[in-house]
Amino acid sequence: MDLSYNADNEALREGALDFAKRVVEPGLRERDENQSPDESIYRAMGKEGYLGVCLPEQYGGLGMDYHSLAIVSEAFEYVDTSARVIISVHNGLHSLALLQWGTEAQKQKYLTPMATGDKIGTFCLTEPAAGSDVVGLEAFAEKKGDRYVLNGEKIWISLSTVADQYLVMAYTDRAKQKARDPHGISAFIVERKWKGVEPYVLKGKLGVRAGVTGGVAFRNVEIPAENLVGHEDEGFKIAMSALDNGRYTVAAGCVGLMRACLDASVKYCGERTTEGKPIGRHQLVQQMLAYMVQSIDASDLLVRKCGWLKNQGKRCTREVSMAKWTATVASQQCADHAIEIHGAYGFSNEFPVERFWRNSRGAVIYEGSKEIHQLVQAGYALGLRQDHPLRCELPGWPYKG
Ligand SMILES: Cc1cc2nc3c(=O)[nH]c(=O)nc-3n(C[C@H](O)[C@H](O)[C@H](O)COP(=O)(O)OP(=O)(O)OC[C@H]3O[C@@H](n4cnc5c(N)ncnc54)[C@H](O)[C@@H]3O)c2cc1C
Repeated sequence: MDLSYNADNEALREGALDFAKRVVEPGLRERDENQSPDESIYRAMGKEGYLGVCLPEQYGGLGMDYHSLAIVSEAFEYVDTSARVIISVHNGLHSLALLQWGTEAQKQKYLTPMATGDKIGTFCLTEPAAGSDVVGLEAFAEKKGDRYVLNGEKIWISLSTVADQYLVMAYTDRAKQKARDPHGISAFIVERKWKGVEPYVLKGKLGVRAGVTGGVAFRNVEIPAENLVGHEDEGFKIAMSALDNGRYTVAAGCVGLMRACLDASVKYCGERTTEGKPIGRHQLVQQMLAYMVQSIDASDLLVRKCGWLKNQGKRCTREVSMAKWTATVASQQCADHAIEIHGAYGFSNEFPVERFWRNSRGAVIYEGSKEIHQLVQAGYALGLRQDHPLRCELPGWPYKG
C-alpha cells in the first residue's frame, strides 16, 4: 500500500490552500458572526474545478484521483469548515453517488453540471424524527404512472436553500416502511425549482455559521420516473455508499482543522509569555501540542488508506467509518486544547480557535455520530456485520468508464 501523495496531489493542495486563503478567508469572521453565507464562494470553487475534482473528464471533472478529494477537503477546512462542507455534500454525497449508481442519462443531465459547479447538489436523508435511525424515515414517494409523488420533510440539510438539486431518500413501499425494512427505501434526484419543494434555513447554529444549513419540505412533488437513482428499493444502499464518500471528506477535513489548531497554537506559544518564558516552554502546554501532532498523523494515515482503497476500486466502509470516527473525535479534542493554550483569548472570536471548536462539534454528530461509528466497528469485530458486493461499485481510478 503506497500512501504517498503524488506531485499532482501536492500541487492541488497548494492551489486549494491558496484559493481558500484568497477567496474564503476574507470576511469570514463577520460571515460566521452574522450567519451570512457568501454564495459566490460556491461558484468560484466550481470555476476552479474543485467541485468536480475527482470526477472523470468525460463528465466535466478534473479527472484526478480520490486522494485529491481528501486534499481539497483538508485544504478548505484548514481555513473554514463551511467551505469543506460544500465538498462533502456536493462532491462526496451527491456527485459520487450519481457516478456510482446513476444512469448515463442522469450523469449527462445532472452530474456534468455539478462537476463544473454550474449546478450545486446536496443530500437529503435526515428527517425531524429520523437521523441515526434511517429506517424510521417518514418521507414517502408514491408511484403514479410515469411519476412518483413525494411527500415528507428533511432537516439539517447542508446547502438546503442554495442547492439546485437534492439526492432524496424516501420509502416507496408502505408495507416495508411499516416493517422498518431498509429495502423499501428508494433514492431520487429532485430539483429545487420544482413545484412543492420548499427549502428553508435554520438559524441559531453552534457552528458552520458561515454556511447554509436548513431543511426542505416536499409537498406532493412530482418526480419523473427517470429520476429514480438505481432500482426501486436500493435507496438505503445508495445512501450508505454515498456516506462512504462523504465521511471520507469529513475525516480529511478534520485533518485540516487539526493542522489549523496546531499552527494557531504554535504561533501563540511563541508570542505569549508567563513566568518570564514563552508558554511553549511549559511541559503541560507541550503535551497538548504533542497530542495535536499525534492526532494529525494518525488521522491523516487513516484518510490516506481510504483514498488508496478507493483508487483501487475497493469498498472501504469499515475503514472510512474508522477514519471519520477517529478524526472527528480527535479534532474536537485538538480544538479544545487550542482554546486552552490561548487562555482567555481562546474564548473570544479575536482568535479563530473558538470557531474551530464550534465547528469541530458538528462533525462528531453528522454523517454518523461517534456512537453510531462505535456500533459499526463493534459490529465488524463481532462478526455481526459484513460488507457484501454492491450491484454498482464506486469506480476505481483511473476511471475506465
Ligand atoms: C451541521 C450539520 C449538517 C448536516 N448536514 C446534513 C445533510 O446535508 N444531509 C443530511 O441528510 N443530514 C445532515 N445532517 C444531519 C446529521 O446527519 C444527523 O444530525 C445525524 O445523523 C444524527 O441524527 P440526529 O441529529 O437525529 O440524532 P439522533 O439520531 O436522534 O441521536 C441522538 C443521540 O442518540 C445517539 N444514538 C442514536 N441512536 C443510537 C443507537 N442506536 N445506539 C447508541 N446511540 C444512539 C446518537 O449518537 C446521539 O448521541 C447535518 C447535521 C448537522 C449538525
